[in-house]
Amino acid sequence: RAQSRGAIEILAYEPELEAETSQRFTRSRDLYRALHGNEISIELQAQVDLRSGRIIGAEALARWTRPDGTRIPPGEFIPMAEANGLIVPIGRQVLHLACQALERLRAGGFPDISVAVNVSPLQLGQRNFMQEFIATARDYRISPELLEVEITETAAMGDYEAKGQLLRGLRDAGFPIAIDDFGTGYSSLAHLRSMPATTLKIDRHFVSEISANSGEHMIADMIIGLGRGLDMQVLAEGVESQEQAQWLLEHSCMQAQGYFFARPEPLDAFIQRLSIVHA
Ligand code: C2E
Ligand code: MG
Ligand code: MG
Ligand code: MG
Repeated sequence: RAQSRGAIEILAYEPELEAETSQRFTRSRDLYRALHGNEISIELQAQVDLRSGRIIGAEALARWTRPDGTRIPPGEFIPMAEANGLIVPIGRQVLHLACQALERLRAGGFPDISVAVNVSPLQLGQRNFMQEFIATARDYRISPELLEVEITETAAMGDYEAKGQLLRGLRDAGFPIAIDDFGTGYSSLAHLRSMPATTLKIDRHFVSEISANSGEHMIADMIIGLGRGLDMQVLAEGVESQEQAQWLLEHSCMQAQGYFFARPEPLDAFIQRLSIVHA
């Protein structure tokens, strides 16, 4: 808008705009301090094998907790961090915390439980992202097959050659790769076929459509078929009911994650859960 009005008007005083800008600035500064003040942690959400009911892994999800105990939802601070670049150091921190979680799982006698980390497009675009990722896992002596990389379908789109090369590098190093929120983007099926992904995660929107008499499970069904055709595993996100879990199992989706099984929880609680389920 300002552009079309000419340079002078760009300088015009707009109190609302200023308030918004200043609030955004304050929030960014808070997030910066939060990162350096150890207010960023992770929670783990169990991923289960629907046939056996066993926990096979967990997704690491970033959490921002203020010193007074207030929690700021990822839906608020992750987009902010993506806009101001702080997602790069936050992602680094999450990776370290995920490696520490894997160390504790191994020490606790659960050496086969994997942990997935979310990687944003901005991180992928960093020149040395892959080298750093590999080096971090190596420093913690993590078996690569236990540390999964999640990128959203949308993030995987475009600039296929560069991203494909990067993901192939990670895959060649042994890290599983999951395409997150699958079904919400518009990825080209031709490119999907050439992606070195190991898992498609059905976005929870399509899982929520699964109910006894809705007949709206078409997309979930289609993604399961696509995964089978591409020789990828399929994991359903946001499973909230027995009915959905049952439907998925009957339709050959073998892995799931969602409130029906477990909410994201601190590492201690997750280990406690493992001790019970795997007893
Ligand atoms: P996501 O990667 O798709 O993670 C799954 C989200 O769904 C999580 O939200 C999880 O708590 C929520 N969820 C799990 N099961 C259910 C369910 O049964 N029902 C419903 N309604 N929701 C469920 P959360 O933790 O709020 O995170 C939101 C998003 O923020 C994540 O979506 C991811 O895109 C982003 N995010 C979180 N942590 C990180 C991170 O460390 N790095 C990056 N780049 N993004 C992150
Ligand atoms: Mg995810
Ligand atoms: Mg998701
Ligand atoms: Mg998501």
